[in-house]
Amino acid sequence: MVIKSKKDMSILYDTICPKCGAKLTIHEQGAVGMAGCYEREDANCPVCNTIVGSKRTDGVLIAELKSK
Ligand SMILES: [Zn+2]
Repeated sequence: MVIKSKKDMSILYDTICPKCGAKLTIHEQGAVGMAGCYEREDANCPVCNTIVGSKRTDGVLIAELKSK
C-alpha cells in the first residue's frame, strides 16, 4: 500500500485551454485507488467551461486557473 504525503489532491499536469487559452493545472482529488470504482471524469475550464482533460479515476478531476 502506498501512503501519500499530500492530503488527497495530486497535481496531474499543466495544460492550456484550447478554446480561451487559459493556463490551467489539472488536479485529481479524492482518488484512493479503489478498483471497480473508476469512472471517466472530465475537467472543465473554469473560464469557458470547455473540457480540457479527462481521466478514468475514482476521484474527481479539477481544472484550476494558474494564478501566476
Ligand atoms: Zn477556457
